[in-house]
Formats: sequence, C-alpha cells, structure tokens
Amino acid sequence: MLFAKSGSRDDLVVRGARVVDPVEGIDSVCDVRVDGGTVAQLGTSLEPNGHQVIEADGLLLAPAFIDPHVHLRVPGREDEETIASGTAAAAAGGYCGILAMPNTEPVVDSAAVLGSLIEDAQAQAEVPVGFLAAITRGQEGAELTDMAELAEQGAAGFTDDGRPVVAPGLMRRALQYHGITGRRLALHCEEPTLSRGGQMHEGAVSAELGFAGYPSVAESVMVERDLALAAFEEQPLHLLHLSARESVEALSRAQASGLHATGEVTPHHLCLTDEAVRTLDPNLKMNPPLRSPDDRAALVDALKDGTITAVATDHAPHARHEKEVPFEAAPFGVTGLETAFSSLYTHLVEPGLLKLETLLERMSAGPARVYGLDAPRIAVGAPANLVLLDLKAGRRVAEGDFRSRSANSWLLGETVKGQVRLTVAAGRVAFGG
Ligand SMILES: [Zn+2]
Ligand SMILES: [Zn+2]
Repeated sequence: MLFAKSGSRDDLVVRGARVVDPVEGIDSVCDVRVDGGTVAQLGTSLEPNGHQVIEADGLLLAPAFIDPHVHLRVPGREDEETIASGTAAAAAGGYCGILAMPNTEPVVDSAAVLGSLIEDAQAQAEVPVGFLAAITRGQEGAELTDMAELAEQGAAGFTDDGRPVVAPGLMRRALQYHGITGRRLALHCEEPTLSRGGQMHEGAVSAELGFAGYPSVAESVMVERDLALAAFEEQPLHLLHLSARESVEALSRAQASGLHATGEVTPHHLCLTDEAVRTLDPNLKMNPPLRSPDDRAALVDALKDGTITAVATDHAPHARHEKEVPFEAAPFGVTGLETAFSSLYTHLVEPGLLKLETLLERMSAGPARVYGLDAPRIAVGAPANLVLLDLKAGRRVAEGDFRSRSANSWLLGETVKGQVRLTVAAGRVAFGG
C-alpha cells in the first residue's frame, strides 16, 4: 500500500545513542547496526564492518514516524507541493511513511488517477507514500467511487477529506463497502450548515475579533452521526483531525461500547488555542479551527490515555500569494511535516504535559496501526525505519529552511527544540547522514 522509488538499502552503524522503542520496550544506550537496510544487531561496541558510522552520543534513536494525513497537492497544484518535495519534507521531519489525501485536481476517484500517482511515487518518493482515494466521485457527495477497484489498485483507505460526506445514506453505504474492501474510511467531520462562513472557533475570541464562528458542535454532531452509523453497520472508522472536547468524548464512549473507532489529532490543535488567532496571522487559519483551552486540554488528555492513538500533521501547503491576504480571505490549512516533532516536543514534552515515549508511539506505531501498516520498530530483522533526534538543539523556524514547496507554517519565527539529525526510511538514508 506504500510506494517509493527503488534505491539503495544502506549499511550503517549508529553509535552510542539512547535507543527508545516504546513498543519493543527498549530504552538503553547502545549501538544499532543496519546491514543492507535491515536492523542486524543491537549491542555495545559493535564492529563497523566498513559501514558508515554515525556518532550519536547524547542523541536519541527511535522508530521513525508515520504521518497518516498529508496533502501532497498532486495532481494539479505542483506549485504548492509535489511527491518529490513533500516526501523530502517528510524525511526531514523524521517520517518513514506518509499517507496522501485525494482532494486534488482531479480528485483521486478513479483507478487511472490512482495508478499514475503510484507510478510517480515509484519514480520520485524519498520515503514510502500511500494514497487514500475518494469516497465519492469528485468528492461531490452524490455517488460512491468504485471502492473495490480502487482498493485492488492499492488505495490505502478512503476519504473525502476537505469535505464531509453529508448524506447519511451515502455514508452508510460507504461503511457497508468497508466490509468488502477492508480499507479504512477516514472522515472529515463537519456539518456544513453549522460551519458555513466560519473563519475561526466560535467563542469569546471570535466575538471580540468580529469573525464569523465555526462552532465545536459543527464537528461533534457529525462525529456522533458517523459513530452511530458505524455502530449500526458494525464497521470500523477513523476520525480525522479532531479538535473539540465533545468529539473526543463521543469517540471515547463509542470505544467503550466496543466500536472499532480511532482518531487523530494535529500538532497545531495540541499546541495552540483560538487565543493565537488574535495575531490575525493567516497561518493560524485551518479547518477545523483552533479551539478553546478546554478543548486543547481534552485533546492532550486523549492522546495521553490512548483515546486518540495518532498524531497527524494535516500538512496543507498553500502558495505564498494565497496566504498573504487578510485572515478572512486566506484559505484554510498549514504545513507541518518538518516541524511536527519539534513543535510537540517543545510545547508538550518539555513542559511536562506528555511523556516522550507516548509522543514517539503516537507518531509512529499508533498511526501505522490505524491503517493496518507495519509499525516501524527497532528489532533485529526489521526493516530499518529510524529517526535520530537531538533533543537539546534549538532552531528558529525560518521560511528558507523548508524542503516543502510551501512555507505556510504556524511556527515561523518561533524557536523550537528537538531536531531531526537522520532519517532512515525502508532501509535507506532519506535525510541527514
Ligand atoms: Zn479535513
Ligand atoms: Zn486534510
């Protein structure tokens, strides 16, 4: 389900790092040897055997990250991102695998469009990438795509992300098709008559600033509906970019009742609240919007207790001219691939709101499990999917530093800690080294 350019399978020894794999239960200082792209040995004072040696004293080696929610903008908006630039950005962010959303021009709603994306990934992708296909043709919410054919062609899942599936009857049939394809349905939960015209979270800040509000209930009412339909059809589902306390509580109740429902949360919803919008920076405008401090606390708690098992960037590149407009006129979306770990390390781990091990798990094995992908792990015989992190190094986020073709980051000008030094993806050094 994931595709990348074929290339070298590298030989290397990472020496002296603190090796942490929360799933394998490893936390110790040791060397890791990779032979031909496969983890071959963990131990102390390993012989380099002529391999490249990475001196990693004082650094942290962990399973590389999986981003289950990326907008690569191809086909159609190659000025904003491409498979090559988006996967290079992913490698720089410590990712060994990403999933791309189908709301492109044209929409990924046919085997032909999906097939040509897979071919492009096999020629250009720096890290393995999978493609979700649309639930409805043209993402117009009227007619289902040929989900069985798309699954056979290699679709990693199905979503109309960017839009909700408004009609309940259609949503129900999409869930029934899950029984045939087995590929996860990923839902952008938004009730459009409640969110219409909304520029930011509806609350005290929107009232003060005079912006039209996009209330929490616009999300949670769709979350409740989709969970009810999934329970009725006894099919699993995945909820994209949760932003509101009510949504998280609904997910938690559904899980407690036995439904196989999963959720993801973005770095920006975990780090920021609607207070940040007072700056009127268009890079703080996204869908769903930044919500209240109480919502943010609920998201952090849900990530901590495992109600939400995946961090997803919702990396949404936009051309500079599109974001250099007043807040009200700007499109929704911010980038995130290259800053996800450092933003969460700085805003959650350093202040003691989240354990480092939990963050590592929710950025790697957690999202892999949602889509049935192999979880990256540091174990003898496993493909090398590794990220080497410098937790002490700080960096001021600057526009010129991005490998992404777009720089609409909410972190511009901010100093963050936790830098990626090396990424090994599917046995190949994809960044650093
Ligand atoms: Zn969305
Ligand atoms: Zn999205």
